[in-house]
Formats: sequence, C-alpha cells, structure tokens
Amino acid sequence: MNKPNLCIALGRMVDPALGLDAVGELYLAEGRVCAVRAEGLSLGALPEGAVERIEVPGALVLPGLIDLHVHFRDPGLTYKEDMESGCAAAAAGGFTTVCMMPNVKPVTDTAEAVAALRRRASGINALPVGAITMGQKGTACTNAAALKAAGACALSEDGRSVADASVMRTAMAAAAEAGIPIFDHTEEDTLAGTAAGEACMAARDLILARETGAALHLCHISAKLSLDMIRAAKAAGYEVTAETAPHYFVFDQTRATEGNFKMNPPLRTAEDVLSVIEALQDGTLDAIATDHAPHSAEEKECGYAKALNGVIGLETAFPVSYTALVRAGHIPLSRLVALMSANPAAILGDPLRGTLSVGAHADVAVFDVAHPYHIAPASFRSKGRNTPFAGMEVYGKTRLTIAEGQIVYQDT
Ligand SMILES: [Zn+2]
Repeated sequence: MNKPNLCIALGRMVDPALGLDAVGELYLAEGRVCAVRAEGLSLGALPEGAVERIEVPGALVLPGLIDLHVHFRDPGLTYKEDMESGCAAAAAGGFTTVCMMPNVKPVTDTAEAVAALRRRASGINALPVGAITMGQKGTACTNAAALKAAGACALSEDGRSVADASVMRTAMAAAAEAGIPIFDHTEEDTLAGTAAGEACMAARDLILARETGAALHLCHISAKLSLDMIRAAKAAGYEVTAETAPHYFVFDQTRATEGNFKMNPPLRTAEDVLSVIEALQDGTLDAIATDHAPHSAEEKECGYAKALNGVIGLETAFPVSYTALVRAGHIPLSRLVALMSANPAAILGDPLRGTLSVGAHADVAVFDVAHPYHIAPASFRSKGRNTPFAGMEVYGKTRLTIAEGQIVYQDT
C-alpha cells in the first residue's frame, strides 16, 4: 500500500527511550520515523516530496502502545471478538502492536496455526502467542523453535498454569534454546483465584526460569504477595519481567459484585491495589497490559457468580491509566509511556518499536489529555461491552493512531 509522508505537528512528543519530552514535529516516511524536530533538537532528515501535515496542538504524541496480553477469540469464538474487530479496538485505543493469547479454538499450538493468524493481522501488528503444551492440556510440550520460526512472539498457557513442574521445566528449557519468552499465567490450581495461589506459582516459575535460563514474563500480577516475591527476585539478579492490568490498580474487591468486575485473577484487597501502584512506581512491574477478554452480554450480565471471567480493555487502558496514575500524581507521564510502549517492546525484543527514534517503525499514538470525557461502551470497536470502566470520567481520548505509517484510527 502507498504510504504518504506525514508530519505530526504541534503535539507534545514523549519518548522515554529517546529522553524526549518536547513540543515539535514528527516526520514519517515509508513506514518509518524519518525525522524529529523540536526546539534545540534536530534528528534525521526531512522526507523528500509532499508531506501531509496533521496538526495536533496540545495533544500527546507517543510511540504506538504495545499490549502484551489480548484475547481476540479468533478462531472459534468469534461471536465474542474476531481478528478484525480486535485489531480495530486496538487501533482505537492507540495500540499498534498486540500479543494474542493462544486459548482460542483450536488452541494456537502448531506452526501452521501461528502462521495463519500472523497473516490475518489487520492494520496493526498483531502477534500470535503459541501455547506451551499441545491443546493447553499440560502434558506434551509444543515445538518452541517451530512456533517461533512461524512468527510466535512468546509461549503462554494463559487461562491456566502448566500444573506439572517437570513439564514446565522442559518447556522453559526449549523456550530458552529457541530464544522465545514465556508469558506466564501464574495460578496454583489447588489455591485457584487466591493471592497465595498467584504468588506460589510465580515463585515456582521464577525458580524454573533461573535454572533453565528462560526469559520469564509474569502475566496480570495482582497480589502484594507476588509483588514481594518479584521484587526480591529482581534484587537477587533474576531476569524476570511482570505486567499488571488497569483494573488491578483502579478497583478493589469491594467492587466485585457484578459480572463486568469479574476476571481472573480477581480484584483483590485495597492493600493489594496500593502495592500494585507502588510496584508500578519502583520498577517491580515493567508493563501495563489489558488482558482484553471480550464476552457476550449473556455471558457477563448474569450475576457475579455465573459470569465468565474477563473484561475488555483496549479502548480504555490509556485513558484509565493516564487518569488514575499520571493525573493522580502516582507516576510521571514518561513512566507511563515506558510501561505501555518502550518496556513491552523490550520484552518482545523489538528495538524498532516503542520509540520515536529515527528508523523505528512509524507506530504513533496521539491522545487528547486536555478534555475529560466519559467512557461509553456503545462507541467501542470491540464486539465486547464487558468493561468495568463504563461511565468513568477520564482524560486521554485517542485522536489518531498510525501503524507502520498508515492511519489506522482517527477521532472524528
Ligand atoms: Zn491469564
């Protein structure tokens, strides 16, 4: 497709990787960042030929957001979401790269399945995650090297843990050999849903990763017990990264009374919420992911006990995080950009994303943080409406999303 030369002008460009926080102009050509201009700063060369100028005075101009954890329900459960609606929701939320968990039907456990999903990405960079075991049954390991060669960005058993420690050790050794990270759902089955269950499995897998050399990334961490463990492991030199999701730093368990507040791990105590915020501040947590998990209305609006686990998040993650963390004074804006873009890019081992550096992919997200608005699920691109954030007043509406130099979302 023909990609126009673009200039995003008058916005506040923030890129922690570049140490950039300045009002200026960002030039994009041939799917790449080609120049950055601000007072006292001149990087790269201006594009040749005509340039389409898009003025965004007062808005934030950030590297496209990267979500390490989404469920697009495709193939097999496309009444909840599909590749197209999932990618459209991502673009509407300022995300230009997402990692799609393998718990679809059939499970993404072969090179063919990975390659087929990879080809179907629509507009944005949608990366398949391969399963750790065949059919996510917890016994026979998938072929880590073949999944990676087909385009898998990570291996995960998300939705459950690999209960058998020896199977997990074998899988981690193969993943280390293949050079592919493990995105780890940490839940000890006999303590399912509890903070202790999350922390016990995190501890087991920290040990196995240390022994095998696997690159371990811990998914949707919600409990102080786990964060204490991760903090100690990092201090001891363990190579581990971890993510949380916006609902874990906004809501505590007192809100867990209706379906749209039900997810796994569940909402926890007020003390856990504070500890998640502290871990976002001190670097114990490396990333904010959404765990975007669409369900139909029937599956969620049936009371807390009966509702399926999971909430959507792609179209609310930035405004909710910006409002609850940056505007609330918990972290600076540059830290939020690191948590939602630069750090996830590093976890994926992709130095050409998560930054506005010259030569990087032209992945850009532009947000209006000057005007508050109310989250309105009816406007979502996602097929899902199962958000706990409906009606919340937030700052950070997406104005424009550009993926590899193409405009994939524009607020009208
Ligand atoms: Zn999970």
